[in-house]
Amino acid sequence: MNAEIIAVGTELLLGDIVNTNGQFLAKELASLGINVYRQRTVGDNEERILGAFKDAFSDCDLIITTGGLGPTKDDMTKEMVCKFFNKELILHRESFKYIEEYFERLGRPFSENNRKQALFPEDAEILPNPNGTAPGAIIKGTDGKTIIILPGPPKEMKPMFNNYVKPYIKKLSDGILYSKVLRLFGIGESHMAECLDDIIEGQTNPTVAPYAKEMDVTLRITAKADSEEEAIKLIEPMEEEIRNRLNEYIYGEGDTTLEDEVAKLLIANHKTISLAESCTGGMVSSMLVNYPGVSEVFLEGAVTYTNEAKMRTLKVKKETLDRYTAVSEETAIEMAEGIARRTGSNIGISVTGIAGPGGETEEQPVGLVYIGIYNDGKVRAEKLNFQGNRSQIRSRAALNALNFIRKELI
Ligand code: ATP
Ligand code: MG
Repeated sequence: MNAEIIAVGTELLLGDIVNTNGQFLAKELASLGINVYRQRTVGDNEERILGAFKDAFSDCDLIITTGGLGPTKDDMTKEMVCKFFNKELILHRESFKYIEEYFERLGRPFSENNRKQALFPEDAEILPNPNGTAPGAIIKGTDGKTIIILPGPPKEMKPMFNNYVKPYIKKLSDGILYSKVLRLFGIGESHMAECLDDIIEGQTNPTVAPYAKEMDVTLRITAKADSEEEAIKLIEPMEEEIRNRLNEYIYGEGDTTLEDEVAKLLIANHKTISLAESCTGGMVSSMLVNYPGVSEVFLEGAVTYTNEAKMRTLKVKKETLDRYTAVSEETAIEMAEGIARRTGSNIGISVTGIAGPGGETEEQPVGLVYIGIYNDGKVRAEKLNFQGNRSQIRSRAALNALNFIRKELI
């Protein structure tokens, strides 16, 4: 089912308020499996509201509006729905009583204008509004076209959507919706979209929705079916195809984190680990410690910030630091091997870099980071370059170090 969200209000057009209702509804509808075809904002103007309905129904079956249900003359959404569907506007007695009582409770005078809020298209399904005066409504036109009108204030609109519209839509889309989430690391959202271009382009059931936040990229695969088992069967081949293309980036499913998956891998592989961190200042250790049970494998984390600390604690050679500096492949390697030998762990990880601001040279820009890995006798390091401010560079370095461990173990 295709839907359009229409935000009504001149205030929105002028930029006086931000259309947060649009964002809320779009996300909710997407998770209900409704295809949001378009979003639009119109001012409080008869012709343009009618024009928007006409245009929206050229390729959508459902319109959801917010705003314009108030008592004043420029609130005209209901009137326009009536005009559009050729219905009469009549008094809804229950709503009228409710609004009257609402005003009584607040001790405010009830005006003729407020009566307007109890007027609805003749056969509308009324959606009560316990958080304000204006009820919403579901109005069916001909040819399966439906308009759902909701109030503008978000604290009235959201509960109304959750309590009445959601169940209504769920009932419409007979069957159930079932989703599976894949979590990826080390791939940008646009590269991922490119790799899945044909899948996303041709999707019907299941649908695939990419979503990215900071460095975390997720793919939600949603199927519509009569039962959960059937939905899972629909999702399986799609997941397999996605895994064929992107498996190296997929670190987990559902509600998990990179550190949890790394900790689980270490435990499953019976590999102990210790960490030598410089620019991340203990972040990698701290993230690993988020996982309960990691004590089985995590032996020690050292924050070796100065050259002296690197020499004393990790046995990094003075010549190495003099010749290659602290931010180098050579130092990262000696750090990783040093911490592993000191603690006797199977794996030793090191992070050394320039988080900035300042401290850079021509050869060593801000964001340059080396991650070293020692694994049962073998040792190497990788050079990475990150963009961002100090805290972004540090957290990106820490997450990449975790991903480094993950890749070593799969
Ligand atoms: P009222 O009975 O308060 O007049 P209404 O249904 O007529 O409600 P509007 O008059 O259009 O709604 O908007 C009332 C208030 O709701 C706005 O001043 C604004 O604070 C908020 N609002 C309206 N539309 C949106 C929107 N799309 N996103 C976020 N907030 C909104
Ligand atoms: Mg209003």
